[in-house]
Amino acid sequence: MLSINSKLPSTGTSLFTVMSALASEYNAINLGQGFPDFPMDETLAELAKKAIGDGYNQYAPMAGYLPLRETIAHKIETLYQNKISANDNITITPGGGYAICTAFTTILDHGDEVIVFEPAFDSYIANIVSCGATPVIIQLEYPSYKIDWNKVKAAITPKTKAIIINSPHNPTGVVLSDEEMLQLQEILRNTKIFLISDEVYEHLTYDGLEHNSALKYPELFERSFVCFSFGKVYNCTGWKLGYCVAPKAWMAEFRKIHQYNAFCCFTPTQVAIAEHLKNPETYLQLKHFMQKKRDLFVKLMENSGFDLLPAQGGYFVSGTYEKIASEDGLSLAMHLTKTVGVATIPYSTFYSKGEDQKVLRFCITKKDETLIEGAHRLQQIKMNKL
Ligand code: GLN
Repeated sequence: MLSINSKLPSTGTSLFTVMSALASEYNAINLGQGFPDFPMDETLAELAKKAIGDGYNQYAPMAGYLPLRETIAHKIETLYQNKISANDNITITPGGGYAICTAFTTILDHGDEVIVFEPAFDSYIANIVSCGATPVIIQLEYPSYKIDWNKVKAAITPKTKAIIINSPHNPTGVVLSDEEMLQLQEILRNTKIFLISDEVYEHLTYDGLEHNSALKYPELFERSFVCFSFGKVYNCTGWKLGYCVAPKAWMAEFRKIHQYNAFCCFTPTQVAIAEHLKNPETYLQLKHFMQKKRDLFVKLMENSGFDLLPAQGGYFVSGTYEKIASEDGLSLAMHLTKTVGVATIPYSTFYSKGEDQKVLRFCITKKDETLIEGAHRLQQIKMNKL
């Protein structure tokens, strides 16, 4: 009998996919999966069409279209004062998630441990487990969702191979401060622990907060794979284009894995972004655009009965519903999609053991009218007392 010894026996289809399908089926407003419902930048779309017309339709180099890597290197030097090499330190990947997965595959052996903070984006633990390694979970402190660094120190064992951080954070929106990054640097000093830094929301920090990239801290960068996403920056999640930045020796190993998986990425979009990215305004204005959306949504939800948690960055605002509903998050999210017509993501999805803090995540990367109608529908929960 043929059989597969499943690498992920208890994993089903991710709730982001399930909720988007349910939202379509019930014609609900989709504040679930994180993607914009407004068109991407027209100039960039035109550049991609032009690249196809200009004949950029064959394989790009395995590490990515060189002018794109050069523009990224320049951006990193300007923003994070890190002089990296386009040739040695950057690989263009099919999305940020792929970059993270490849980094894990590059470094993990059977029996290794990886420190993960929960709530966590659902792919991290699946990636770690698929590599035969063990996630060591640390809960972020509710309701601030801050890291207790003493817990991190206590979780380190001789088997700890890596730690993964994510700032701005999905789903909580928490942004790591300079002090916290220095604290992390201090904890990892003299260890053999790698850092995987998920920075796909790097340009989305609000209220004047700065993004503290692992690239800014030379001692951290020495041990890092830093992962980014163009889909999030240029509102084109369907382009599935991102990149990983790492020191030369680690990047060489990363590329060995990448060249036999994707090999290289879609060429025309790389050519288009190489041009578009030369203008810093195209990414620096994003935080202002998105802060307006966050502020609008927070205001619209003022009397909804949800207690919103502060979102300092990223694509999402979250809120507890304990005052207005008693069921668990998944049941409420399903119910809201089907009856109220708004899809959301329950926090239980970001916990490997399904812990439920009665918190729902709302995606705010939507047209203003979508946010207005979504918030209006969500007010009904309070009135109907589900
Ligand atoms: N990052 C997106 C989110 O958190 C989802 C991406 C996906 O579905 N894989 O909603």
